[in-house]
Amino acid sequence: MPRGCRVADINSKTPYEPPPESGYAAERKNMVETQLRKRGIRDARVLEAMSIVPRHEFVPPQLRPAAYADEPLGIGGGQTISQPYIVASMSAALRLSGTEQVLEIGTGSGYQAAVLSLLVREVYTIESRPELAKSALERLQVLGFDNVHVHSGDGTLGLKELAPFDAILVAAAAPALPEPLLEQLREGGRMIVPIGPEEHQHLVLVTRRGQEFLSEQRESCRFVPLRGRHGWKDWELL
Ligand code: SAH
Repeated sequence: MPRGCRVADINSKTPYEPPPESGYAAERKNMVETQLRKRGIRDARVLEAMSIVPRHEFVPPQLRPAAYADEPLGIGGGQTISQPYIVASMSAALRLSGTEQVLEIGTGSGYQAAVLSLLVREVYTIESRPELAKSALERLQVLGFDNVHVHSGDGTLGLKELAPFDAILVAAAAPALPEPLLEQLREGGRMIVPIGPEEHQHLVLVTRRGQEFLSEQRESCRFVPLRGRHGWKDWELL
């Protein structure tokens, strides 16, 4: 069970405590004000979560001074940690209240999962690269994000044994909506996923109504490809 947090107080036992001396507090506050609030992120819980999670702990040491910049950053192996605004926008689009069980595809550094963990009850996250899954798990444990569960494997298949999910966040670009993820969304549940070709995508918000899936196109974005059985095949990519 999660150690809990201040943002999702409904279920929490004790508040999530960022590590002492975690640093960069001024940069984090500035990021929330200038990159998020001023650009229209209104969800107070998302703003608070992002003012708590130490983003600099999720990037390679040499990139720490740039951790709060208005851009995605490389985390090794050609993978990236998303721009703060995109993390906030995707999290807000799911309209989380604190009770949810959420699935994330593409753990990467673990930063998005850490932000979600302060907004919901449980986060299940899947990473296809075992070395990234391992380092994200270690990092999340050290930082005390106890309600994040990291799985290694092809996230386009979802996690059937734990479905249905109240919300699903896909943090890599898909060619189309992955069928298993639609099936694993609970009635009324929401999924946010970047859809489009390799160079350029749009975020798509999907809401389940029975066997119907209503989709709404949101802002443009650029993610690394979602590779896998219901994603891109290696031979389809440049
Ligand atoms: N959410 C991350 C950033 C994700 S980058 C963060 O906050 O740092 C996209 C990630 O998706 C990469 O780590 C990549 O390895 C992973 N990925 C790509 N295809 C995948 C798949 N089919 N299943 C799980 N992870 C996948």
